[in-house]
Amino acid sequence: MKPRADRIQLSREGKVPACPHCERATLSKRQTDDGTRWYCRQCLTHVDEADWRPRRSDGGPNSETLAARLMDADPDDFGGQA
Ligand SMILES: [Zn+2]
Repeated sequence: MKPRADRIQLSREGKVPACPHCERATLSKRQTDDGTRWYCRQCLTHVDEADWRPRRSDGGPNSETLAARLMDADPDDFGGQA
């Protein structure tokens, strides 16, 4: 419930912002007065919140590693300082 800009990055700990409508990772980040919005180039739709999901396996390093564990961590753990 706390909008924090630093929570939102284009690629966060192995996750990618996906469109909640078409589930494709075709979102463009938009910075507005209200915060970060997303625009889906597939649906041509603006979405308020990206659907963060693990990056699809593409034959890269296996996902059961540090990145995968970080994904399960509370985001607040990263923004640390009060
Ligand atoms: Zn879409």
